[in-house]
Parts: sequence; structure tokens; C-alpha cells
Amino acid sequence: METKKRVLSGMQASGRLHLGNLLGALAKWKELQDGYECFYFIADWHALSTCYEDTHEIKGNTFEIAVDWLSVGIDPEKSTIFVQSFIPEHAVLHLLLSMITPVPWLERNPTYKEKQEEIKNRDLTTYGFLGYPVLQTADIALYKANCVPVGIDQLPHLELTREIVRRFNYIYKKDVFVEPEEILSETPKLPGTDGRKMSKSYNNAIYLSDPPEEIEKKVRSMLTDPRRERRADPGNPEICPVFALHNVYSPSPSQEKLQGISRGTTDSPAIDISEISDQCRTAKIGCVDCKIILAKNLIKKMQPIYEKRCKLKSNPQRIYEILSQGSKKARKIAIATLKEATEAMGIHMEAPRSTR
Ligand code: SF4
Repeated sequence: METKKRVLSGMQASGRLHLGNLLGALAKWKELQDGYECFYFIADWHALSTCYEDTHEIKGNTFEIAVDWLSVGIDPEKSTIFVQSFIPEHAVLHLLLSMITPVPWLERNPTYKEKQEEIKNRDLTTYGFLGYPVLQTADIALYKANCVPVGIDQLPHLELTREIVRRFNYIYKKDVFVEPEEILSETPKLPGTDGRKMSKSYNNAIYLSDPPEEIEKKVRSMLTDPRRERRADPGNPEICPVFALHNVYSPSPSQEKLQGISRGTTDSPAIDISEISDQCRTAKIGCVDCKIILAKNLIKKMQPIYEKRCKLKSNPQRIYEILSQGSKKARKIAIATLKEATEAMGIHMEAPRSTR
């Protein structure tokens, strides 16, 4: 039987997940579960790299992210779901790899400078922030992951991981670690309520944990085509954030037709995106009505996730069990890999029994 390739990916425990996360990473993770041996982890230590002064939300975020994953179909029967800090080997390997990683490699990492420019209200002058890619390399290398699902903007990080791994294998003359390949996932740029990219840092996101009434409120508050000032003005859906969400959550013309046929009726099919576009351009529909339609379609898609979320949250014990079982399984691999690495370095030592 052919062994499945191993996939590893993680998310920082820095907040609840939103529609952008679902459409980008999580949809891909879910798809990979059937063809790969998947390891998905919540990176709670990584969250410290940008918020070491304010840690009070990290534990809660870890729990909420686990609930988000399970509610969208990341399945603990198929994938190993674990928490980074449950496995101290991540920290140990990070330390060992930091000894061999040249500082200029980290300084030339494009996101290092970008984030420093972008995030002005946090202290990003720490080693932890500079060394973030080293910890990321340790996360991947510990499991000898063959593949890592990434967006195009994360490719330089993965290249750095390959360089660090290659350097380790070269210095210690043993192929302990695997150079991971990327599985590129398209990350559609979903706009938030203010038209900028949906992001928790912009406070413009619609979360998986938002109840229907909150979704409706957020959709109603969304920016529209800024040049459409009056109801009688024709709009331009191409530049309207509301329409960008219609494109994802409202039926396409063919879908609507098929649904009508399967219902055995075409009496009053819901309005599809090409009709919304036409009616916007000819001012036949107003932005308020257009948003009402979007809210209805979005809530219909998100309702099952929301209901599953509520059910999962009512049994927190079960969530901790899943995280603990996944971490136990992952840790066995991590311990074995770390032993191999320290043996290759010639520093592996077992503590005498009396000190254990
Ligand atoms: S009608 Fe809809 S698509 Fe057109 S500008 Fe208004 S909200 Fe945007």
C-alpha cells in the first residue's frame, strides 16, 4: 500500500477565525485530509512573537480555534490536531536550529520588514519576532512533513525552511530532516466590511462564530461602490465589496437554474449574481436590498457551521480530549525526530535514571 505524504500546517492563536480563513486555508486543509496524512496545529507560542506583553487571550483563542476547525470539518478521525505548547520538542528544536541559522537569512525575510512597517503598536524588536521562521522550521521539520499548504505570500518562509533544513543536514552529514514542498492554495482576497482585506487586525471581519443577527448587522454596515451616492445612480459591482461577497456566497446563474430544476419549479428562483450585477449597473436594485440578499445567502451558508460550533462549545471537555489525544500522537513523532537530530549532532544524552 502506498504511504500517504505527510502535510503539516498551523495557525497562530491570535484570534477567532473569519470567512477569509475559511475560504483560504481551512477549505484547502479539509480537502487535503483525504489524500494526505495531515497534522494541523494551533501555534500558541507563535502568538507570543507579536503579543508577548498581552497574553491573556492566547489560551481562549486556542480553544476557539479548535472549535472553529472542528465546526468546518477538520476531522480528528482523519487528521492529527494538536497544540504547539503541548509538545516541548518544538522549543528544543527551535533552539538547536537557531544555533545554525545565520542572522542575515532572517533579516532578509520580506515579511520581517513589512510587518515592522505595518504593526506600529507592538514591540517587534525581539529575537522571538526575528526568529519566527526558525520556530516555524522546527514545527515543520519535527514531523518530517513532505508538504506544507501555503499562500503565495508565504513562499519565502518555506524557502527559508528548506535552506535551514538543508544546512542542518549538510553540517551534520545526515539527512535527518525533509525539505518540504509547497501545496499552493489560492487565497481569494475577501474584502471586509470596510472594503480592505478581511482581517482581524482591521476589525472588519465576519467571524465563523458570529451568530446570524451579527452577520446581518455587519453586512448592512458594509461599504458599497463609493461613487454610487443616490439610489438612482447606477453602480459598479466590480469595485463594490458587497458584490465581492455575492460572488462567493450567492448563486451563480447555472446553480440557480439547476436548483430550480431539481425543485421541479422555476417559479420564483432567487436572484443570481449576474442579475444582481445587471440590476446594480442599471440602478434597478438599491444597496440596502442588495445587502439584504447577501446577508440571507451568507447566513444560509454559515448557519450549519454556526450550529455545529454551538454544539461543540457545549462540551469543552471533548475539545480538550481531541487536542490532548492529537498532541500525544504528534509528540511520539517529535520525540523520535529530535533524538535523531541530537544523535546526528553528537550531543544526544540520556539523563541518568536517578535524575529522571
Ligand atoms: S447594488 Fe449591490 S453591488 Fe451595486 S453598489 Fe449597491 S451594494 Fe454594491
